[in-house]
Amino acid sequence: MPVNAAGARILVVEDEPVINQAVTDRLRGSGYEVVQAWDGPEAVEQFTDTAPDLVVLDVMLPGFDGHEVCRRIQAARPVPVLMLTARDDEADILVGLGVGADDYLTKPFRMRELVARVGALLRRVERAAELATRTTTADLGDLRVDSASRRVWVADAEVHLTPTEFDLLACLAASPGVVLTRENLYAEVWGWPGASGTRTVDSHVKALRAKIGAERVRTVHGVGYALETGGAA
Ligand code: CA
Repeated sequence: MPVNAAGARILVVEDEPVINQAVTDRLRGSGYEVVQAWDGPEAVEQFTDTAPDLVVLDVMLPGFDGHEVCRRIQAARPVPVLMLTARDDEADILVGLGVGADDYLTKPFRMRELVARVGALLRRVERAAELATRTTTADLGDLRVDSASRRVWVADAEVHLTPTEFDLLACLAASPGVVLTRENLYAEVWGWPGASGTRTVDSHVKALRAKIGAERVRTVHGVGYALETGGAA
């Protein structure tokens, strides 16, 4: 899959010098412009000063941690964030996704996978912009999804979703009642076919359910998810 470099600027936040430099070198080698930061406060400062298109963000950082960095930058200007977690820890991952991270990689990771995920996240932003130009409103009982404005309402009350949660819901809402596999959802929403993404899908579905109502997304065990059709539950 070709990597879309197209002048994208990436902020790499990591306090471990070897990892920071290895990630930076690899991304530069793939044609990206890279800005480096080594702790929480510097990450926020660099984000403001350099306006990156994407952030690769370690969780454990001096100053304040990656979750706090993510919270602050997403409040300032939403950009795709790829979180680097030290452990394959479900709680840690959920916190990261809850503060606006779009995807995560568990250390140690392969550089090739990091570059692929970065490329996929950047392409997703382009695709979302393109989708927004096609006005579609899906009405599913009292759930309303407006792709043009990227807004969602449940029983006339607006629900605020992260960009990833919205894309996931829009994908499910495009085929209401149809079971989509986790692999398909990951490929559709994250733009990169990888079985390793199934837990990312599960985590975002969990977050989505908490906001729109658990009963609206049906789990088909061992297969995937479907958006319930029809009236209020
Ligand atoms: Ca660290």
